[in-house]
Amino acid sequence: MIPRGELRVAIVGSGPAGFYAAEALQKAAPGIAIDMYERLPTPYGLVRGGVAPDHPRIKSVTRVFDRIAAQPGFRFFGNVQIGEALSAPELRLHYDAVIHAFGAASDRHLGIPGEDLAGSHSATEFVGWYNGHPDYVESRFDLSVSAAVVVGIGNVTMDIVRILATDPDQLATTDLAPYALDALRRASPRTLHVLSRRGPAQAACTTPELRELGDIDGVDVLVDPADLELDPVSAAHLAGDDRTAVNNLVEFRRWAERGNTGAPRQIVFHFAASPTALLGDGRVAQVVVGRNRLLPDGHGDVRAVPAGTSTTLDAGLVFRSIGYRGVAIDGLPFDDSRGVIPNVGGRVVESPGSSTPVPGVYVTGWIKRGPQGVIGTNKACAAETVGHLLSDAESGVIVPAERRAAQLDDLLARRGVRVISWDDWQAIDRAEVARGLPAGRPREKFTSIAAMLDVANLTR
Ligand code: NAP
Repeated sequence: MIPRGELRVAIVGSGPAGFYAAEALQKAAPGIAIDMYERLPTPYGLVRGGVAPDHPRIKSVTRVFDRIAAQPGFRFFGNVQIGEALSAPELRLHYDAVIHAFGAASDRHLGIPGEDLAGSHSATEFVGWYNGHPDYVESRFDLSVSAAVVVGIGNVTMDIVRILATDPDQLATTDLAPYALDALRRASPRTLHVLSRRGPAQAACTTPELRELGDIDGVDVLVDPADLELDPVSAAHLAGDDRTAVNNLVEFRRWAERGNTGAPRQIVFHFAASPTALLGDGRVAQVVVGRNRLLPDGHGDVRAVPAGTSTTLDAGLVFRSIGYRGVAIDGLPFDDSRGVIPNVGGRVVESPGSSTPVPGVYVTGWIKRGPQGVIGTNKACAAETVGHLLSDAESGVIVPAERRAAQLDDLLARRGVRVISWDDWQAIDRAEVARGLPAGRPREKFTSIAAMLDVANLTR
C-alpha cells in the first residue's frame, strides 16, 4: 500500500484531461507529487491549439489550469515527448502511477476515392494551422477557391465555417495566427457547403455554436425546407428531452424561412448527404454527393443508408470534419478500431475486451473514451480515473516505482532534451502577450518550437 500523500504520479498531456486529473489528485492529497509531461514547450493542449481564436471565453479556462500548476508538488516537463524522448515503460519505472491524457492527435478518414487529392484536408490540419500549432504551420490551403465543402456537422465544423465566413478585420484582435489572418484577408470561399450524412435532428453541434453562424455579417445561411420534414424516428426524438436537437431545429427552421437575401456569402446546409468521391485532375474540383435515406437503427436513432442517387457540387477545397482519432504510443496497448487505449473506467487493460489491468497505468480524456465531449466533460472523466488510481494505491495493486523520478532529469539531459519548466513557459507566455499588445491582440503565439526555446533560453 502506498499512502496517497506519498504517491508520485506522472501525467502525460497538458490539455484539459491532464489538468483535471492533476486537480482531482490534488484535491484528494494536497501537495501530492505530480510531474506533467507535454510534447510541446507550451501547455493547455486543444485549449491553445484547437479552441477557435474568436472564442476567448472558452480559452479562459487556462486560468483554472494555472492555479492547478501553482500547487505545491506540481512540476511541468514541456518539450518532452513520451514515446520519443522517453518510452512509456521507462516513465512507469520512475513513477508509482502514470495517467495518459494525450488526447486524439489524428483524425478519421472518409475512405472515398479522391480523398488524397490536393485541396482535400482534415479539419485537424486546418484548425491547427489557423491556431498556429507548430505541427501545421507549413500547411497550405488554397482559400482563393469560390466554394468549399465541409463534411460533418459537429462543433469543429461550426468553428471552421465561422472562421472562413467572418470578416478578417473582426478576427484581427484575436490570437489567430498572423499568417492565417493574412491568407484570409487575401481570399476566402464565398460558398461554404456543410454536408450532414443524417438529418437536422441528428446534428452533432450544440445550439449556441450553430446560432453563431446566423450572426455573421454578410452571410446567408441556407436550409432547404424539404430537409426539415422529419422522418418518424426523428420526430419522436424531438418530442423527447433532447433540448439541443429541439433548439437546433428552431435555428434551421428560422433560416429555411428567411431564405436567400442576396448576402455576399452563403453557408449551405445539405442533409442526408454523404460525399462518395472527390473529383479533379490533381486537385479537387468537384464533390460527388450521394443522397441518403434515414432508417431506424433499432436503438431509437436513425442511420444513413445510400438512396442510390447523387448530385455534384463544384468545390476546390474539402475539409473532412468527421472526428478526431487517438494515436498509439509504443509500449502501451491500443484499440485500433476505436482509436483509444483499452481501459475499464480509466484503468488500462492488456488488450481490448480484456479485464486484466496493467498495474499503475491509467487513462483519462479522449484517449480513454474517444473524441467526444466538451472541456468540462473531462472533469468527471478524470475523477473516475483518479478514484480508481487512489483505491488501487490503497489496496496494494500498484507496485511502487522502481527508480527515483529525479533520475529522469539526468536521463533527459543525457538525451539532449531541453526540458521546459513552468517558469520557462511563463516566460514564453509573457513574450507572446507582449508581441500581441501593439495590435490589441491577447497574444501573438510563437509558431515554431525553436522560437519558443529561444525565449526560454534567454530568460534562464
Ligand atoms: P463530432 O461532434 O463527433 O461530430 C462529427 C460529425 O461527423 C458528426 O456530424 C458525424 O455524423 C459526422 N461523421 C462521422 N463520420 C462520418 C462519415 N464517415 N461520413 C460523414 N459524416 C461523418 O466531432 P467534432 O466536431 O470533431 O467535435 C469533437 C468534440 O469536440 C465534440 O464533443 C464537440 O462538441 C467538441 N467541440 C466543442 C466545441 C465548442 O464547445 N465550441 C468546439 C469544437 C469541438 P453522425 O452524427 O452521423 O455520426
